[in-house]
Amino acid sequence: MPNIMKNKKGIVLGVANGKSIAWQIAKKLKDEGAEIGYTYQDETSCRKALKLFEENNATFACKLDVCDESDFPKLNENIEKHFDGKLDFVVHSIAGGPSLEDLQGDFYDVSRDNFLKTMEISAYSFVAIMKSVAPYMKATGNSSAICLSYLGAQRAVPNYNVMGVAKATLEACARYMASDLGKNGIRVNVVSPGPVLTRAASAIGGFRQMLKEYAEQTPLGKLTDTKDVASAALYLLSDLSAGTTGQTLFVDGGYNIR
Ligand code: NAD
Repeated sequence: MPNIMKNKKGIVLGVANGKSIAWQIAKKLKDEGAEIGYTYQDETSCRKALKLFEENNATFACKLDVCDESDFPKLNENIEKHFDGKLDFVVHSIAGGPSLEDLQGDFYDVSRDNFLKTMEISAYSFVAIMKSVAPYMKATGNSSAICLSYLGAQRAVPNYNVMGVAKATLEACARYMASDLGKNGIRVNVVSPGPVLTRAASAIGGFRQMLKEYAEQTPLGKLTDTKDVASAALYLLSDLSAGTTGQTLFVDGGYNIR
């Protein structure tokens, strides 16, 4: 089934480098014929991403720090200019917080400021993006958005802490937006991979131990492959998933069922 994303135009948020899950998803979408515009957090931390965008003929790439409201209009200008104001898909693959210390030890030690900032970056940002681009998605009459979560949204995973609380909020936001936006032909779903060694993941305390546990306890007996995450994203962003919205799809080799 080649080119199932032919004639589809969309945006991918959250590529920092070649290891980013967002980049693996973007490559898959592009292989299937999609046209893609990118946003990046800033020039310094996303230097490697800028190179990837250039080498892979990105339709556009613009800076968008999700905490900076003044960055949002530029994205909209690009969608109007390059995609004729029509958007078929959105990939939100962003997570972050102000302090690495929050991703180890006890959850309840988190400060008010760090709690709120982590929520803003990792959960509210999906709402802010959707609010900004929903009119362009509505214009196609058939569009799809995904965000990335983790099992720590649904269970108290050691060290995941405030990020787990933000992911729980993110998943709830996805369900509410699926409910709001279904009438406009917009689907909203969540992909929940098992652990993958990326820049964001390396901030989580005991991450390598977590990888070991997954390798030993996953029903499929293997660690999460980002290619499988990208395939799940492709399903949810393509017309193959036309009847599915408001769902969280695990791509973790079945770890969550045990
Ligand atoms: P990554 O570090 O490659 O990507 C995280 C991205 O978030 C980066 O591109 C970073 O620039 C962006 N970001 C952070 N703060 C931002 C801000 N203020 N404005 C704009 N962008 C900002 O790591 P990743 O593992 O590819 O993470 C992508 C998504 O996948 C995240 O939502 C993460 O929680 C989720 N996830 C990761 C794993 C894993 O084990 N790696 C597992 C499940 C879910």
